[in-house]
Amino acid sequence: MAIDYDLVIIGTGTATSLIEPFLHRDPEGRIAVIDRNTPGGICLTRGCIPSKLLLYPAEMLHTMKQGSEFGIDATVNDIDFPGVMQAMRDNIGEDIETLRQGLQQAEQVDYYRDVARFVEPYTLAVGDTTIRGDMIVLCTGSKPAIPPIEGIDDVAFHTSSTLLDLTERPDSMVIVGGGYIAAEYGFFFSQMGTDVTIVGRNPQFLPAEEPEIAAVAQQKLMEHLDIVTNTEVRAMSSTGGDVTVTAVNRDDGSEVSFEASEVLIATGRAPETDILEPEKGGVEVDEHGWIVVDEHMQTSQPNIWALGDATGRHLFKHVANHEVEVVYHNALLGHDLSADYHAVPHAVFTSPEVAAVGMGEQEAIEKYGEDGILVGMHRYEDTGKGDAMHVTDAFVKVIVEREELRILGAHIVGPMASVLIQEIITQMYTPGRQVHPLLQAMHIHPALPEVVQRACSNLMTPEQYHHRLEHG
Ligand SMILES: Cc1cc2nc3c(=O)[nH]c(=O)nc-3n(C[C@H](O)[C@H](O)[C@H](O)COP(=O)(O)OP(=O)(O)OC[C@H]3O[C@@H](n4cnc5c(N)ncnc54)[C@H](O)[C@@H]3O)c2cc1C
Repeated sequence: MAIDYDLVIIGTGTATSLIEPFLHRDPEGRIAVIDRNTPGGICLTRGCIPSKLLLYPAEMLHTMKQGSEFGIDATVNDIDFPGVMQAMRDNIGEDIETLRQGLQQAEQVDYYRDVARFVEPYTLAVGDTTIRGDMIVLCTGSKPAIPPIEGIDDVAFHTSSTLLDLTERPDSMVIVGGGYIAAEYGFFFSQMGTDVTIVGRNPQFLPAEEPEIAAVAQQKLMEHLDIVTNTEVRAMSSTGGDVTVTAVNRDDGSEVSFEASEVLIATGRAPETDILEPEKGGVEVDEHGWIVVDEHMQTSQPNIWALGDATGRHLFKHVANHEVEVVYHNALLGHDLSADYHAVPHAVFTSPEVAAVGMGEQEAIEKYGEDGILVGMHRYEDTGKGDAMHVTDAFVKVIVEREELRILGAHIVGPMASVLIQEIITQMYTPGRQVHPLLQAMHIHPALPEVVQRACSNLMTPEQYHHRLEHG
């Protein structure tokens, strides 16, 4: 016989924030929370938080190494790699434990650490137990996508999840993939002293970024590690203790191979729905297996909601946080709210940092025409603080719609990009989305936000922008 619940949550990440408001609305309600993995979801256990805990010491090392430029004669004597890794695990371990206890002790919550799979609409098998939910929230996340590389099954490789268990610094590492996870871990390991090579299939490193932004990031990162683009990994094999990765240049077909003590596969994310079997629950998925939702975050089955990575749209924690608010309003309060993706930001936490929000130049031109947009640009080094920091090549690019000067997007490569972009993100969430307040507001002098302000005041046609980019 099935155990009945008023609310079933699959995934212990973002969706657990629905527990409290649900019980506030329905104090007698019974909730099932299911996760086959450590509680806390991807962000806490194997995503944002552990990666940023590792990246901060890497950033610190990077800064220390620049000391000589400023007349500081400092030497890094030792890097306690096992200690850095253990500090990261201890940090997240405490939060995981608090969450575990919270779930286990909550009176009206049954916490299952098991796989959930649909057996029929509104009914799931969870291990040996069958449960039924009136309202179901699918927050099943994503997992590392593993490409079909010849020999991969016979070779030990890491994903962004398994490398968190490392206790010894790898001497060398090949990272397959050229996106933000490859960039961040490439930067981290390079700072720790590992000899890193990133091999990306796309002609552009960081393919989600504006080409000129990605080019600066690549050039700066290549001071610490190798980055090979437009090169597809075809085979992997073990050679003694090392792994040989064989790849093909996609332009001329030439073969190239790399040898390293460790390989990290960072070639994107895949849905978790193979184990959920949503089709048995009448929940539609797309051709890749991502759960299909409408603008209210409801699936094809009434009162079954999905959010976060599970929908395969914008795989970021802040997007999942926005979507769970939408689910809260629609599922719990009966509102009719739509998810809003007009200004989804993201950042790459390398040195230099990369951050972006909204449209790229090409997308803006497709929507508004070449004459319909203006591009603003300013270099860090042309401000007091940027100059003091000896920053070179870093810049802010802002794209505005010409008629009403509404901000359409912004892209930054340089120190504190993830912080500087917030001013623009916030402005993009005002009704007018206009550039004027960024110009009118006093900006502290000489601080880095001046780069953003000056980019907004230096508006030019796309053609003028590209001319300026090339000729300074
Ligand atoms: C290395 C890395 C770095 C990242 N860095 C950032 C960053 O800096 N900023 C950012 O915004 N985002 C980052 N992300 C992305 C971010 O972690 C995710 O977008 C976010 O955590 C997704 O949360 P969620 O709520 O959708 O899923 P979660 O609830 O967090 O995870 C889904 C959970 O569901 C469980 N599950 C799935 N299917 C089943 C099933 N059938 N039965 C039982 N349990 C199941 C899984 O085990 C998992 O624990 C990063 C991701 C990675 C991998």
